[in-house]
Amino acid sequence: MRGSAKTAERRKAAPTRRRGRPAAKPSFAREPIVLHGIGVAPGIVIGKAFLLDRGPAAVARRKLRKPEVDAEVRRFRKALKEAKQDLMSLRAGIPDKDLRDHLFILDTYVMILDDRMIAEETAELIRAEKINAEAALTQQLDKLKKIFDGIQDPYLRERRRDLDHVGGRVLMRLTGQTRERLAEVPEKVVVVAHDLSPADTAQMTPDRVAGFLTDVGGPTSHTAIMARALEITAVVGLENVTRRVESGCPLIVDGRVGKVILYPSRDDYAHYLRLVDRLHRFEQDLAKDLHLPAVTLDGERVQLAANIEMNREIPAVIEAGGEGIGLYRTEFLYMNRNDLPGEEEQFAVYREVAERTAPHPAVIRTLDLGGDKVSALLELAPEVNPALGLRAIRLCLKHPELFKVQLRGILRASAFGRLHIMLPMVSGLAEVRASRRILEEVKADLRSREIAFDERAPLGCMIETPSSATIVDLIAREVDFLSIGTNDLIQYALAIDRVNEQIADLYQPTHPAILRMIRGVVEAGRDARIPVSLCGEMASDGLYTMLLLGMGLDSLSMTPNSISVIKRIVRSVTRLECRKFVDEVMQLDDADAILARLRQEMALRYPEMYASD
Ligand code: PEP
Ligand code: MG
Repeated sequence: MRGSAKTAERRKAAPTRRRGRPAAKPSFAREPIVLHGIGVAPGIVIGKAFLLDRGPAAVARRKLRKPEVDAEVRRFRKALKEAKQDLMSLRAGIPDKDLRDHLFILDTYVMILDDRMIAEETAELIRAEKINAEAALTQQLDKLKKIFDGIQDPYLRERRRDLDHVGGRVLMRLTGQTRERLAEVPEKVVVVAHDLSPADTAQMTPDRVAGFLTDVGGPTSHTAIMARALEITAVVGLENVTRRVESGCPLIVDGRVGKVILYPSRDDYAHYLRLVDRLHRFEQDLAKDLHLPAVTLDGERVQLAANIEMNREIPAVIEAGGEGIGLYRTEFLYMNRNDLPGEEEQFAVYREVAERTAPHPAVIRTLDLGGDKVSALLELAPEVNPALGLRAIRLCLKHPELFKVQLRGILRASAFGRLHIMLPMVSGLAEVRASRRILEEVKADLRSREIAFDERAPLGCMIETPSSATIVDLIAREVDFLSIGTNDLIQYALAIDRVNEQIADLYQPTHPAILRMIRGVVEAGRDARIPVSLCGEMASDGLYTMLLLGMGLDSLSMTPNSISVIKRIVRSVTRLECRKFVDEVMQLDDADAILARLRQEMALRYPEMYASD
């Protein structure tokens, strides 16, 4: 997984954040072991391991005598109740409010424990088969997991692992095992476990846990998301790291590239200590540019904006020197709640965005639900291929009332700043035209009621399907701006499910097909004299910045904590040399070769971030 093209998708934060020093003098008695996994939260840690577990222990199956059955059912119910209490007290004890917002998953765990398929059917199994509670629960979980295996939707399939986490908690209660409480680890360590649930991750604090490593897991798991939120360096999917470490063993974790060195050599230490120092100095240095403009050495201005999901991220954007919001993912307003957000609520949210980002613009993307972003509220029918299903603009056009509520909210808020409206997942002109018709209806209604709005609020279109990229010249004539959504464009153009960790190595932003598409979109924008932005994760990864500048993008929109690094790159290159670099790179015919060339160039220019030596 290391050093591959999909780092753009994974690398949600700035290249390095954490740094660490060896806790004790290492002995160098053992040969180093190098392991590679998926780096899900960046940073370098030099420290020692704290082995939490080696994965689920085998469960013994025991036949019960008839008189033992009732007591066994009671024992099971007691363990269930205790596991539930554990989860609830865990949730209540988490001090960090931001983190608590990620913890709706803990409520889901409690709901799973209450579900009759766990609570009742396991008890029935104990009675019917006269077996011990551990064996009955394991059997029942296996049955449920098989059902999940058959589900196509990757997000729901991932929920299979939640069953393991929940089941593991009940089994621990049944067997009387205790797991070291992560909140109480003795000193700053790298936690090593077969798997970590979000409940485990939530107990970690960066002052005690410098990093974590797991055998299993992928970049889109809740655990990975929380590691990034906590800024704890993490590498997952290491397969057998728990079999290879002992507690206290010295190690080095490079979360940037998913590399782990157990029992590092003297040279490894010297090398990584140098990297850590270099990174540290580089990060301090970046802070100096924060409020300088993003302008190339030959004087070309590039807008560096931010992608956000909630208003409370706005201060981070301003602090990072972001020039507006290039992508506001409004679907998060519709998730994890019991009712649909109405016009007033949406108006208030977007008005705040408009006011707080002024004088810069904020691009409000209309609802992009569906695919891996699901909301229980809309009660959508299950789909065999959700990524290709009733999602985003398709959903809005099918439910114009839902769409109009949102458009009214955005338009009314547009009177308070500079709001742009952007349509997601467009695959043809008919969708652009139908959306514009609805937008005009909403405007006419507001006018008739003398409600103020910005008559000239621009309407733009995301280019994230191969069809829209192919007819972008036609689309460009009918919209005010374009924004390339490479996350989906790569998924659809290369036919690679963006959330399937098994094919993650085929998710290649440097595939020549993708680069040609990006270039084509920029050219179409230029011909139509409308601005073109790129708001996929590629914009957040400095590896691609020279390429994107050379292709002529007007604006890049990214995760807020990437802005400082990207600005540094913009300010240290000329557009001309970037163009030449694009010409050179586009001669190469293969994604890996292009990636290797980018790595080489960036390691040469910015060794602090990209050199591994
Ligand atoms: C994209 O697809 O590149 C994009 C920015 O949108 P999202 O990640 O929300 O699908
Ligand atoms: Mg998208």
